[in-house]
Amino acid sequence: MGTRGIEIVNMDVNRVLELLNRAFADEWLAYYQYWLGAKVVAGPMKEAAIAELIEHANDELRHADMVANRIIQLGGEPVMSPKMWFDFTNCGYDQPSDYFVKKILEQNIKGEQCAINVYNDIIKEVSQKDHVTYNLALQILEDEVEHEEDLQSLLEDISVMLNK
Ligand code: FE
Ligand code: FE
Ligand code: MG
Repeated sequence: MGTRGIEIVNMDVNRVLELLNRAFADEWLAYYQYWLGAKVVAGPMKEAAIAELIEHANDELRHADMVANRIIQLGGEPVMSPKMWFDFTNCGYDQPSDYFVKKILEQNIKGEQCAINVYNDIIKEVSQKDHVTYNLALQILEDEVEHEEDLQSLLEDISVMLNK
């Protein structure tokens, strides 16, 4: 932890850490939901869906890594037990119960929309106060916006195909 790096944060660092740890729990749960979804998904265009789900899983894990690095940089501690993910999460975990590709995609779209809200709110709260966290949240938000669009396009393609 760098002292000057923390001094320039012009808001309560514990609040930043709280926001980051909540997002950290979200990222792990999103990672797992995608990872598992890619294993069980079934139905039309399954291969395209699997490729997209795996790509997104990897992105969510990378986000968890980015967020953890910032938490540690600010002198905090990332949530240490998976049991605590459910105490911290904003977006929760949507267990895949129906493996049909449209259903899996819909669940993950819902998750992405929640993630977009989470990072959009973080950006608003730390704006002009913590530039590094702002930049981190902005980078992740760009990915989440892309994720939502990817999944919605795929769902649209599958729906068009099924209605023929
Ligand atoms: Fe993410
Ligand atoms: Fe995402
Ligand atoms: Mg994608």
